[in-house]
Order: sequence, then C-alpha cells, then structure tokens
Amino acid sequence: MADYNKPIPSPDPYVTQPFWDGAKEGKLMLPRCTSCNRVHWYPRILCPHCHSSSIEWFEASGEGFIHTYAVQNRAFGGWADETPYATAYIDLVEGDRMFTALRGVDAENPESIKIGARVKIEFDQADEDTYVPYWRVVD
Ligand SMILES: [Zn+2]
Repeated sequence: MADYNKPIPSPDPYVTQPFWDGAKEGKLMLPRCTSCNRVHWYPRILCPHCHSSSIEWFEASGEGFIHTYAVQNRAFGGWADETPYATAYIDLVEGDRMFTALRGVDAENPESIKIGARVKIEFDQADEDTYVPYWRVVD
C-alpha cells in the first residue's frame, strides 16, 4: 500500500460508494436498473438505457472477457514506471464494459494478447480505505 504511486479515486457518497465498499472486501459491485433490469457501467444516478432512477447494486462475478486493448508506451506519474503496459475494455459477464489496466499479459509482445481472453478482477490497496480494481488474464 505504501508504494501505490498512482492517482487514488475519491468515492462519491451518492453515486459510487457501493462500488468502493465492495472493492474493500474484494467484491465487484455493479449497478443495475430495477426498471429495465440492465447493468450499466460507470455508475450513474439515472439508468442510461431508460432514465429510471431505480438503481440497485449487486455483487457481480468479477469475471469478464477482453473486448479490446491497447499498449501504452508513454505515461505520466506513477504509470510511467510501468510502460509498456496494456489497457483494455472488459466485457463484463453481467453486461456493459469496464476500462482497466490489464495484468497477466506481455505488453512487449502485443500479438500475444487475445481479444476474448477470460479475465478476473483483483484489487490493489491504494490507501487505508481505497482498493483499486485491475483485471488479470486467467487463461
Ligand atoms: Zn433502465
């Protein structure tokens, strides 16, 4: 935790707090609209599909698949130490997509990264109360 050198997110008590509470326990919490039953990411106070304000949070599987990726060769701040690294959009099993820094891949050999590869979420402790999500290729 002491060596976490990247920006640390600030939870919004009205919109994103359930996500960060789950992250602290190693759980992926996602918002779902109770009117149209669709999952959406990122968290919002209104459903982006039907504009309902009836949003519930549920514990998701923490599993997904690489939708697409890019290799970052330049970065700033704490990310500069990690170049090259891969970023990706993850197709969440429950629906919608999440952006991430991808783990378990060889970013110096981008052809080895496979669209559709199975990934699981993991969390790094960034400070006393904040756990930041990353996705790791598992096969
Ligand atoms: Zn909806």
